[in-house]
Amino acid sequence: MAGIAPDVPTLSNFVEGRWIPGGAEARELVNPVNGEVVALAGTSGVDYGKALEFARKNGGPALRRLTFFERAAELRKVADVLAEHRERWYEIARINSGNTKADATIDIEGAIGTLKYFARLGTSLGESQILGDGGPEPLSRDPDFQAIHIGVPLRGVAVHINAYNFPAWGLWEKAAVSLLSGVPILAKPATRTAWLAQEMIEKVVEAARLPEGALSIVCGPAGDLLRHLQPEDVVCFTGSAATSRKVRNHPTVSRESVRVNVEADSLNAAVLGPDAKANDPPFDLFVREVVREITVKAGQKCTAIRRILVPASLSDTVLQAVESGLRGVDVGDPVNSSVGMGPLVDMTQRSDVEDGIRKLSGAAEIVFQTDPSDVDGDIEKGAFIGPTLFRTRSESPVVNELEVFGPVATLVPYESNGDAFEIAERGGGSLAVSVFSADLDFLEEAAIALGPSHGRVLLVDPSIGDSHTGHGIVMPSCTHGGPGRAGGGEELGGLRGLWFYNRRVAMQGSVPVIERISGGGESAE
Ligand code: NAP
Repeated sequence: MAGIAPDVPTLSNFVEGRWIPGGAEARELVNPVNGEVVALAGTSGVDYGKALEFARKNGGPALRRLTFFERAAELRKVADVLAEHRERWYEIARINSGNTKADATIDIEGAIGTLKYFARLGTSLGESQILGDGGPEPLSRDPDFQAIHIGVPLRGVAVHINAYNFPAWGLWEKAAVSLLSGVPILAKPATRTAWLAQEMIEKVVEAARLPEGALSIVCGPAGDLLRHLQPEDVVCFTGSAATSRKVRNHPTVSRESVRVNVEADSLNAAVLGPDAKANDPPFDLFVREVVREITVKAGQKCTAIRRILVPASLSDTVLQAVESGLRGVDVGDPVNSSVGMGPLVDMTQRSDVEDGIRKLSGAAEIVFQTDPSDVDGDIEKGAFIGPTLFRTRSESPVVNELEVFGPVATLVPYESNGDAFEIAERGGGSLAVSVFSADLDFLEEAAIALGPSHGRVLLVDPSIGDSHTGHGIVMPSCTHGGPGRAGGGEELGGLRGLWFYNRRVAMQGSVPVIERISGGGESAE
């Protein structure tokens, strides 16, 4: 590890209620602006079997003893601790992820906001410890014999495996739902950006004092983690489709019927309605969103718009408008506040994106690419890559199949409504699609046509032009997941999200017994 400054921190892992140093084989985390090593992370000292057992034996029972109201108070404490150290999180996000202030806001404020949302939700569930699922139902001719469905928290550990692009939000959006359900977590952030997640946990462990075993974090390779899973453990995985297959097909996961939730990659589309005209509100809103989606987090968002579907007659006009928007985004070192788009996370990611661009070039023409000399940074050492826009004139499978995880999108003209919906569907199942139109009939038609192949459908007419939350933004109150290549899992939002960490049980008995179990019939729905 020659060339590493002596003060580079080695991230510790928090398992079994104590901090375990990273170990000699630790991997290097870098500053993507210049390739400097900023931290080391490894898990060689972690005994995954013991780590999971400790959380099951200590964190689970302690959390399950609390009511929803009390767990909500714990989440609020976590949110307050994180909010106190905001400036530090922004600094780490810039140094280890190359985030601009706006990029980091989505990750960091998204994390704090999601924790607060689930704290409010938990408060509204009151002193109960079980989830209700509908009212009592008679089962026989005797009206005194009834059934009720309830949710009981799993007695295992929630293993949260996260992608590199949202180290803060990815950690807490999962942890909030799990902890509110009464299930302890073992978080495994992606190694290359684990620093932010690790330091957040460190501060929370120090200051929020959650029950022992409720929170664990490992900052390095997963090793044999999955081999130690038991039937009441769950895995929530976010990352590439390739890794998700390894997780799903792991022999222990399959033998023990471990519940797995997968959110994987996606070829999301945005559709401009056939009613659009140059520079009318849907057109402008569409172009603004496309430019934002290509450049925010340098396109490293699983929900980012990859395919821009436009009426063929407007193709040139949209192209010019998007190009002009992209030209206005300065690419470079985010330390400079005028920079609108930072680098990719590291050189490996840059070479993956360059490779993807080469592959797309075989099927579509590049119509816009930032000149490297315009980048405000060292393009030899930094993982910079400018926004790249393609246009395809005819059907080419690679455009619908290859996720280039960077600031890259392809404009695809369509001839008819059915054509547009079919192209969107060729993504093989996507996380999100957005549709921009002033024609409510078209929006309704699009919603019905696109719903089955998408987790979330954002329908923008001009009345919500300035108030909608955006194509790529996940809201904590919404549950949604893309089918097929998007993973077939769910973003666990709102009360619906808690069900992943609870098991639905049908309780059958006499009315007085059923009433006691369900808390006098009160439903937490
Ligand atoms: P990745 O390479 O698939 O890694 C995801 C996570 O899996 C990391 O924590 C990684 O750990 C871990 N991992 C790797 N091999 C594993 C194994 N054998 N067993 C258990 N865990 C293992 O994905 P990424 O490069 O971090 O993220 C980019 C991808 O994620 C893109 O394809 C993007 O579309 C997708 N993504 C999807 C969503 C969504 O919500 N659907 C959100 C964000 C990103 P190490 O880092 O230690 O290798």
